[in-house]
Amino acid sequence: MSVGRGLTSDQLSGFRTELRGAVLDPPDPEFNQRRVPFNAMYEDRPDLVVRPTGTADVAAAVRYAREHDLEVVVRGGGHSVGGLSTADGGMVIDLSTMHAVDVDPGVRLARVQGGAVLGELDRETQLFGLAVPVGVVSQTGVAGLPLGGGYGWLRRKHGLACDSLVSAQVVCADGEVRTASAEVNPDLFWAIRGGGGNFGVVTSFTFELHPVGPIVAFAGVFYPVEAAAEVLHGYRAYFTDARDEVTAEALSITFPADPSLPESVHDRQCLVVGAVYAGAVEEGVAVLRPLRELAEPLADISQPMPFTAVQSAFDGLFPRGQIRAYWKAAYVATLEDDVIEIVARASAERPSPLTFVDTYAMGGAIARVGADDTAFAERSAPYMVSVHGNWSAANDDEANIAWVRDVWAKVDALGVGSTYLNFSGADDADPSRAAVGFGSNLERLARVKAQYDPENLFHRNNNIAPSGDGS
Ligand SMILES: Cc1cc2nc3c(=O)[nH]c(=O)nc-3n(C[C@H](O)[C@H](O)[C@H](O)COP(=O)(O)OP(=O)(O)OC[C@H]3O[C@@H](n4cnc5c(N)ncnc54)[C@H](O)[C@@H]3O)c2cc1C
Repeated sequence: MSVGRGLTSDQLSGFRTELRGAVLDPPDPEFNQRRVPFNAMYEDRPDLVVRPTGTADVAAAVRYAREHDLEVVVRGGGHSVGGLSTADGGMVIDLSTMHAVDVDPGVRLARVQGGAVLGELDRETQLFGLAVPVGVVSQTGVAGLPLGGGYGWLRRKHGLACDSLVSAQVVCADGEVRTASAEVNPDLFWAIRGGGGNFGVVTSFTFELHPVGPIVAFAGVFYPVEAAAEVLHGYRAYFTDARDEVTAEALSITFPADPSLPESVHDRQCLVVGAVYAGAVEEGVAVLRPLRELAEPLADISQPMPFTAVQSAFDGLFPRGQIRAYWKAAYVATLEDDVIEIVARASAERPSPLTFVDTYAMGGAIARVGADDTAFAERSAPYMVSVHGNWSAANDDEANIAWVRDVWAKVDALGVGSTYLNFSGADDADPSRAAVGFGSNLERLARVKAQYDPENLFHRNNNIAPSGDGS
């Protein structure tokens, strides 16, 4: 009997006995539940979902997929905006059963398994008043952040997620398990800090930890969208000489009538300025104050808050498998008046309430790392404007995608010509488009790819075509 595309049930039962974890196929009642990624646009049906319990299972799965010519898809938290952790056919290696986080506060290191999500990491590190700079929604997978860069509330003080990576354990395309660190396989270590899932399955990450919290000064100010241009001019002025401790975003959004939010912002288009101070709380409250006075706000919920609460503040907006998402980001060298005008206009014309136009303040620690020190090349742009299309009805796909592309193209025309691949839709994942995101590091990445994955087994990602002999 044939299972999936060409596998016999005998072959499959042989594979099952090899693993400690589960191998799910479509008849399995759990299959459908495990199949679904974050982005509801991707309803793909893989042949198998493998749920490894450890590195040995991952290595066996990679070898099995090679032997049986199965497409390999790797899933950490499943939050790829472009649906890169699912596929029609093939084997999804779903790491969600491997989510342990082990913190050693004495040496300020955390070892995190490849399927952990941000909330699990923050919970364990915050127990000791420590943190890794990761993203801002707690259900997001840890894995995709250091592999693709990783921006969060600590980025201007402590850099990208990939900048705090100390070592990783990687199951490569030949099924071998390798350590990647500054001392061991340094080329692989360089490549996985920004080169995405191209080089193998990372079964664990070891991060350096930074003192943060447990309480941080937080600013959350809701300005009316009509004041967007005024607010963004003030935001630009603030960041001409802001301290690295301050990280902020200015994002347009329309919140629903949620009783946990001030009534004045219910169903009202807003430009929200959110900021965190990664330093002493009282000092932070004072330093963040000007961001609360950029125009007359509709509401201001700024206050000292537990860092874990800041890290989950957006969670409710992103239920898994319910949001359709298409995002695109452009970096700009200055927040010039023309960019502000595009952002302000787009903020008022968004096609869906949860669609953001988000202006990220960069710089600080991000820019102190050289463009070729890690595979993540874009270090110097002081701002990123990201257009995050989020909607719920399939009928609205075309209009929302077209709108995101249009706004992005206008900003990108004034930008530095690079993009953030972790925010990209599927159409940016093919090697010719992904090249824009890898920038000046592409050639070296292609050589490392040729060394560790010459046949491009790991291609369901922002793909790098192997090139050269890998030496
Ligand atoms: C709601 C939401 C919020 C977000 N917020 C932020 C943010 O604040 N900051 C930010 O920088 N980005 C953010 N992102 C983007 C996020 O960084 C990427 O979507 C990232 O890929 C998510 O990681 P994941 O493990 O969930 O990805 P997955 O969907 O599981 O995988 C994405 C890609 O990474 C590869 N991959 C995953 N795990 C591994 C592994 N262990 N080994 C090798 N390859 C692997 C996959 O093959 C795939 O190509 C957000 C995305 C969403 C949907």
